Amino acid sequence: MESKYKIVFVTGGVMSGIGKGLVTASVGKLFQFRGFKVSVIKIDPYFNVDPGTLNPIEHGECFVTEEVWNFEPVPDSKDISFNISEIDQDFGTYERFLGVDIHPSHNITSGQIYLATILRERKGEFLGRTVQIIPHGTDIIKNRLKSIAEEENLDVLLVECGGTVGDIESQIFLESFRQLKLELPGNTALIHVTLVPYFDIIGQHKSKPTQHSVKALQEAGLQPNVIVGRSSKPLDDEIREKISLYSNVPINAVISDPDLETVWELPLLFEDQKLGDYLCEILDLKAKLVTYSSINNYSEWEKLVQIYKNANKSITIGMPGKYFNITDSYISINYALEHAAAHEGYKPNLKMINITEDTDIEKELADCDGILLTPGFGERAVEGMIKTAEFAMEKKIPYLGICFGAQLFYVAFCRKYLGLKGANSTEIDPKTPHPVIDLLESQKEVDAKGGTMRLGAIKVKLIRGTRLYDAYKKDEILERFRHRYHIQEKYIDDKAKEMGLVISSRDETGKIINSIELNREDHWMVGTQFHPEFKSRPYDPSPIYSAFIKAVIQRKNKK
Ligand code: GLN
Repeated sequence: MESKYKIVFVTGGVMSGIGKGLVTASVGKLFQFRGFKVSVIKIDPYFNVDPGTLNPIEHGECFVTEEVWNFEPVPDSKDISFNISEIDQDFGTYERFLGVDIHPSHNITSGQIYLATILRERKGEFLGRTVQIIPHGTDIIKNRLKSIAEEENLDVLLVECGGTVGDIESQIFLESFRQLKLELPGNTALIHVTLVPYFDIIGQHKSKPTQHSVKALQEAGLQPNVIVGRSSKPLDDEIREKISLYSNVPINAVISDPDLETVWELPLLFEDQKLGDYLCEILDLKAKLVTYSSINNYSEWEKLVQIYKNANKSITIGMPGKYFNITDSYISINYALEHAAAHEGYKPNLKMINITEDTDIEKELADCDGILLTPGFGERAVEGMIKTAEFAMEKKIPYLGICFGAQLFYVAFCRKYLGLKGANSTEIDPKTPHPVIDLLESQKEVDAKGGTMRLGAIKVKLIRGTRLYDAYKKDEILERFRHRYHIQEKYIDDKAKEMGLVISSRDETGKIINSIELNREDHWMVGTQFHPEFKSRPYDPSPIYSAFIKAVIQRKNKK
């Protein structure tokens, strides 16, 4: 059957967190190399409507999209709707690899699907029927996938299902995949990503976990076309043969996904194993003859990988924060620092400092060439973060504060240079005598927590003559926001200005300060209320991260 678009499903086996998002993005890149228009949908089988309310310690970073989507569970019914711009961190991976801004409606959760099913029933959409997972729930899922592929005129839609096959929560999604495979014969493919453990002691890969997870997939009525084996070492022919035999997948479709020097190399490794050609063959796709935009061109990507491989000089960036139980909590920041540094020939050593009551901040920061103060919410670790900003001011260490990191820079400045004892954000101390950070006007009436922050890309008006302007060299930019509180301008009096505090950008109305910095010849210190890391790309680093990294390198080389 002819279909205007092809769908590639990506499922995971054995355990989560093995880099399925990287595989999905890299497979997308293979299609881009061949001139196809590609996008990605990620399914998260949890009940949250979006991941904005999840704790980063448990779930990693929450990614913020360019656009804000008004999700109406019952179409064209304004009774209930939610703003969605906070989505799964895998979208950061997709955007960085594919160079496209992805719409927030591409992150589908069980919460959205069940809410839509139940509210439509109440509205009377299924009058007379018993409303069930199949077909009512699965129809809503299939329609979401198909309408995105059609409306965005995609050649290939990749659909990654979060979690692991066999999870109760993901069954409804796997069932929808099964139905779509039936509806669109010849136009879908399924890639199953599993962990293939390697045992040093016996010097062997083990296929059993993969066999079990393929069985679980087959029980759901799905047969994989490709198995991607995630492992510390490349899969040799022996293990590939074994996986092929037990999984009913040809040996050339058993793909090796070993640890790599740099993640950007994964599409090249897949290309070496002819995965792109294989997928095109089963989907009956012929590469398009197009003028490739540079990032979608194979040889340009090869050059990019070289930049990352050659970046071997080292700088240490201290990252004090509160969500360091996992390294993914600030993943877009880690990458933005990596991008900016690589283009200067450096590889940043990120010193993640998990602030507790016992942390000796000054000692921890002593060997850092630069400091990045992280975003965050709530009281825990805040005094240590304020101390970080004070320390940067005293020792003149290059400092970039992101969102909370900008707000706490301001708190530290007000305490240290304006003598405002006990100055704080009302988020942390509602009774502070000096509420130098307070709720945005638009937040004062807001109670509900999901999707209610100031979100998405918003115009930022830059002020000339500032470090921020020097970095972007533009009067106006679009950057992504996610906050409720902001810097109170009334404390920026003559004394503050004399001590070097500068407002470097505002919103369109002029009422919201979007960034601050210190006016010091010998010290680079900037805080942005926005999150430039979400727009940093491996081939196009964020301008303000680049300026920060250059300041760090300059200071290090002077020492
Ligand atoms: N908690 C702060 C606010 O809501 C900062 C948020 C952030 O760092 N993203 O304004």
